[in-house]
Amino acid sequence: MTFNTVQFQPGMSLPEFLHCFGTEAHCAEALKAARWPGGFRCPRCNSDAHYVVGHGARRLFQCSVCRHQTSLTAGSLMEHTKLPLTTWFLAIYLISQAKTGLSALALMRHLGVSYPTAWLLHHKINRAMAARESCHRLEGAVQVDDAYLGGERAGGKPGRGSENKVPIVAAVSLDAKGRPRFLKLNMVSGFTSEAIGQWAKACLAPGCAVISDGLGCFAAVTSAGCTHQPVVVGDRKPRELPQFLWVNTVLGNLKTTLAGAYHSLKYRKYGAYYLAAFAYRFNRRFDLRGLVSRLIVDVARCAPAKEQLIRQHAEAGF
Ligand SMILES: [Zn+2]
Repeated sequence: MTFNTVQFQPGMSLPEFLHCFGTEAHCAEALKAARWPGGFRCPRCNSDAHYVVGHGARRLFQCSVCRHQTSLTAGSLMEHTKLPLTTWFLAIYLISQAKTGLSALALMRHLGVSYPTAWLLHHKINRAMAARESCHRLEGAVQVDDAYLGGERAGGKPGRGSENKVPIVAAVSLDAKGRPRFLKLNMVSGFTSEAIGQWAKACLAPGCAVISDGLGCFAAVTSAGCTHQPVVVGDRKPRELPQFLWVNTVLGNLKTTLAGAYHSLKYRKYGAYYLAAFAYRFNRRFDLRGLVSRLIVDVARCAPAKEQLIRQHAEAGF
């Protein structure tokens, strides 16, 4: 089984994490390397000539050319944070290593912060994952399937009320041996040709060979330059067919994750974040150790987002 090697790989142990990122100084160095891998660059004029005012995590970098001052966190998701960097890094570590996701409540308990603080950290880190996930499209052979968040297949109980049932599309690309490579999980406005056409243009590279069940809207992937092969499933459920093995495995795992990690989810509002966090972890499943460092980089490079913005309706955006 492909998944066993994934399940049994060593992650980064907590002592090892604390050894690398247990102090403000260590976190500040890691943040600096993540933001400016080739050394400091002025965000205003791109000059590398600078001097440093102050020290530690709160130090300022002043450009020698245009005199613009910036900090390690300015212009990033961590901008204006009052939390120690060690708290941010520990949150990143915990979220990256939790196999079935982590709730804001669990994060609150682990970090010893208030619930609103944990909630915001959780959503900001999910936002960084979503931003990263939106940068790539699937290529080659792709299995797609439709599902609902809050429906019977992906989290929640059936009959909970349709107002919290959100249509989603799951798509898994396969390698030449038919093994899963990358995953896209996205909310869509509905299972219409228009919505699927928009989704395909954002998420699939032209030339993808898409298979789906007979749901009519999936033919719209051809508008994104993909080929489409519907598989007529007859009386059988598509999830029982080998052609849909991986996309259904993913939807099953998603259901477990959502049931275990998130209670009373507001899918319509925040579903896109939860899906992106799941896909982010799946797409990096072969390197659980490296996931910590990658997520530090993705958080450090994600544009600032005010709490108000995060609390607004998360777009169904891809
Ligand atoms: Zn400058």
